[in-house]
Amino acid sequence: MKIGFNGATTMKSADLVRDVEISQAAGYDVLEIWGAKLNEYLTSRSVADLKALFESARIKPYSINSIEFITFKKGSEWDNIVRLCHEYCRIASAIGCPNVVVVPSPKPQGVSSADIAHESARALAELSRIAEGYGVHLAFEFLGFEWCSVTTLRQCNEIVEQVNRPNIGMVLDTFHFFAGGSQLESIDAVDPKKLFIFHINDAEPLPKNELQDANRLLPGDGVIPLREIVARLKHIGYDAVASVELFRPEYWQWDPEVLARTAWEKTRSVIGA
Ligand code: ZN
Repeated sequence: MKIGFNGATTMKSADLVRDVEISQAAGYDVLEIWGAKLNEYLTSRSVADLKALFESARIKPYSINSIEFITFKKGSEWDNIVRLCHEYCRIASAIGCPNVVVVPSPKPQGVSSADIAHESARALAELSRIAEGYGVHLAFEFLGFEWCSVTTLRQCNEIVEQVNRPNIGMVLDTFHFFAGGSQLESIDAVDPKKLFIFHINDAEPLPKNELQDANRLLPGDGVIPLREIVARLKHIGYDAVASVELFRPEYWQWDPEVLARTAWEKTRSVIGA
C-alpha cells in the first residue's frame, strides 16, 4: 500500500502549499486536498497554478475533501451541492486528481433505513452523472456518529452496490468504522475496486458513542484494531493507499513537518509496508 496524507491533519498549522511541501518531504505518495485550504489557495491563485504546483512536485493529488451532507437536500440547498460538485470535479480533473469525497447527511427524524438507502442512491446517481463528465470518481464516506444517516461499512457498501455506477465507490475511515460499530467481517463483502479511499487513524479509549473527531490519534497510538483491518483489506485484494487523516487540535500545535513525518512512520509501521 502507498501512503497518503490528508490535509485535515494540519488543519490549522499548514496551508495547501505547505501541505504539498511537508508531505512530499516526509515521503508520502499522495495528498488529499482539504477543501477549505483549496478555497483559500484559489483566492489569490488559479487552478493552472495548482496544476503547475503538482506537476513540479513528486507527490500527487489523490482527492478533494469534501462535499458534506449531500443527502436529503431540497431546492437551493441541493443546487449548492450540485454547484460544488461541478466546481470540485472541474478542479480535480484539471489537476489530475482522481477522487472527490462526498459525505452523507445527518439522519432526519422518522426516516427508515430503506428511505436512507433510496435517497443516498438517488443523490449519488445524480452527482455521478456530473462527475462522469469530468472523469472523476466520487467516494462516499460513512460517518460512525449516531446522528449520521449512514454509519457502517455494510450500509455504505449496500448503497454503493445499489447505485452500481463505475465512478461511485466509498471511503473506509478506521475512526468511523470503529465508532459506528462496523464489523470486521463486513470488509469481506467489499469489492476492493469500490474502495476508492482508505483513511487510517486511531482513537482514544472512550465509549464508542462518545468519540469525536478530536479524539483521533496517530495510527498505533489508540485502541482501534488497525492491524486486523489492514489484514482484512489485504485479504480482499485492496492494495491502493492508506491515507492518514487526523482532526486533533493538539496536533495543530506541533510543527507540521514533525507531525507529517511522525504520521508517515506510524502509518508505515501499522500497514507493514
Ligand atoms: Zn475520513
